[in-house]
Amino acid sequence: MEMRRLPRASSADLKRFHSEDYVSFLEKVSPGNVDSMTMDTLAGFSIGEDCPVWDGIYDFCCLYTGGSLEGAIRLNHRKSECVINWSGGLHHAKKTQASGFCYVNDIVIAILELLKYHQRVLYIDIDIHHGDGVQEAFNLTDRVMTVSFHKFGLQFFPGTGDMYDIGKESGRYYSVNVPLLQGIDDNSYTTLFKTVIKGVIDCYSPEAIVLQCGADSLSNDRLGNFNISFDGHGECVAWTKSLGIPMLVVGGGGYTLKNVARCWANETGLLVGERLDDKLPETCEYYNYFGPEHHQLRSGLEFKHENQNTKEYLQAIKVEVLENLRQVKGAPSVQMQGVPEDFFNSDRVFREEERDIDESGRDEDEGIETGYDPSLDD
Ligand SMILES: [Zn+2]
Repeated sequence: MEMRRLPRASSADLKRFHSEDYVSFLEKVSPGNVDSMTMDTLAGFSIGEDCPVWDGIYDFCCLYTGGSLEGAIRLNHRKSECVINWSGGLHHAKKTQASGFCYVNDIVIAILELLKYHQRVLYIDIDIHHGDGVQEAFNLTDRVMTVSFHKFGLQFFPGTGDMYDIGKESGRYYSVNVPLLQGIDDNSYTTLFKTVIKGVIDCYSPEAIVLQCGADSLSNDRLGNFNISFDGHGECVAWTKSLGIPMLVVGGGGYTLKNVARCWANETGLLVGERLDDKLPETCEYYNYFGPEHHQLRSGLEFKHENQNTKEYLQAIKVEVLENLRQVKGAPSVQMQGVPEDFFNSDRVFREEERDIDESGRDEDEGIETGYDPSLDD
């Protein structure tokens, strides 16, 4: 595994998906000036309770988006087979609006980059919330298939993603939604996950995968109410990796913070083919944070929600989804001529000796090259 510092995406990168006025707003807004903005402006960009303004918001967006974008560029140029950006995965953000703690949709921007070199991209979302922002962005195209496994109920955010929500026009049948009820367990979830994704792979033959690994689908999440263990969540990640398709892995939601760290540490191990020791190393910088009782990587979850997903309910979803996939007639392809330039200067992105971080996690060089080209910034 090679560790790299997040490069910074430019405003031009963000505008590949987001509207000019929304990106300009994010660039300018701060806790010091937000009160001087009109209610109409803030409401228009959906800034408020779920998506507050805080110091450093724009830098945060540029950094996590830069990580996903560089991941896409590395896959495009076959510099990596699998790239992880746990800081990315903000799947709710819309073209002109923030939504559900997400301001910039790094996933959409990364997929747009992947489409320069890949005919078909598969997006898989195992966050407990519907991946609505990504689906909406690609709802009309057959070049991206979005598959979201999520809790569904009109009272549960964002309230979209029922099993009849399948995409529109050229994208009809290329949005797959798997709406679940509270309390789903490892066995039901992983079985359904593999059945659906295998069906998708068979009919769609994706050339690249983006996997959003929101950790709020774990048991004991403060907002979620599934009964999924670290092993169940991780099994979906490891199984997807085993398909051998170039993959960008991103984070997402997760509101019991210690478990988010556990989940993604465990899955980083799985993605490099290792099952990490369950005992956290005492030399770990944050060892005491996980104490005093639970110094384990994968234990400590309680499975307390009644499983409302009956066999009949899950069977009905499976039948409906597989029936829709039968309508996908062969893998669509396009002429890949005149590929647009990379948004990052790829010479800089791939000047690896300057950007590697040594195994202890420290930068080898304080003057590290970030791949960020200031000339691209407005
Ligand atoms: Zn979520």
